Amino acid sequence: MRHHIFFQILAVCLLCGLYLVSPATGAGASGAVSASASSESAMKNTSPMPPLSEREADVILRKGTEAPYSGRYTDNKAAGTYVCRQCGAALYSSKDKFESGCGWPSFDTELPGAVRRLPDADGRRVEIVCAACNGHLGHVFEGEGFTDKNTRHCVNSLSMAFYPAGSPEEAQALAQRKQGASAGTANVAGGCFWGVEDAFRRMPGVTDVVSGYTGGHVPNPSYEDVCRGDTGHAEAVRVTFDPAVVSYEQILRRFFEIHDPTQLDRQGPDVGDQYRSAVFFLDAGQEAVASKLVNRLRELGYDVVTRLEQAGPFYAAEAYHQRFAERTGRGRCHMSVPRFDTPAKGGR
Ligand SMILES: [Zn+2]
Repeated sequence: MRHHIFFQILAVCLLCGLYLVSPATGAGASGAVSASASSESAMKNTSPMPPLSEREADVILRKGTEAPYSGRYTDNKAAGTYVCRQCGAALYSSKDKFESGCGWPSFDTELPGAVRRLPDADGRRVEIVCAACNGHLGHVFEGEGFTDKNTRHCVNSLSMAFYPAGSPEEAQALAQRKQGASAGTANVAGGCFWGVEDAFRRMPGVTDVVSGYTGGHVPNPSYEDVCRGDTGHAEAVRVTFDPAVVSYEQILRRFFEIHDPTQLDRQGPDVGDQYRSAVFFLDAGQEAVASKLVNRLRELGYDVVTRLEQAGPFYAAEAYHQRFAERTGRGRCHMSVPRFDTPAKGGR
């Protein structure tokens, strides 16, 4: 269906990291985006933002790309905060914007937890979406050497709105972010993700669980990459939950019960640092909760080796890893041990 011209344009435009595409509504676009992904119907629109224009919808909902140098924020140098055009969530600070010459607004980092990375339908690039609403933002590239962070978020202006520094809109967006940045999301690693995902799927208050990779230095890793053990990534899950029903602390307590946090760089038969026990905290509040639970378990006599790591990009795993235990009946290797009620010496 995609024609020659498309590939020619693609080849040319890949040089600067983006492609010009008419809205990708074909099977290719939705098929390759992994389990957590975004169909128009799956997107939440909880926002006070005005309705999307047709052009905005082409980009945000149908993953199109605006023409280079056409966006209103490409050369915007004003101080302030860029928010998601669809849901209003704060995404980027002007402090992280830089001049890339690529024709699209470029940032070398996102506000922590604001952006999610997914394998692009083209099989090569890494798509970025708003973590709150799954709206398409653009793509992220690493290793180009533009800034110290060596990362370029190439974002469509149409995917964003801009609030100048000190404006009431900015203050509100940042306040909402403070309340909700980490609310409802927990990233943890406790060995083979099939079993961890399955255990969390059964927990009341949990609304979604995605198996994936995080904590490493290789963008968009495959399962084979991670199995090799040199990417730094752990097999992990991203748990989405309703904070009105279950707290982050309860999620983490469950986490410490469904895997063995005293095993260093392994979990049962799975050996290697990709099977490490880790909590990837999204903010200081989450870090404090994780630290408190680790200390509690240590008081109970468990030699906890769980690593507390600042959350970085989370890459959804291939579709065949999602709901693996549910679909195959295999991989339920995680048993629940009530560690918080059982001192280690009595419990072992
Ligand atoms: Zn959004």
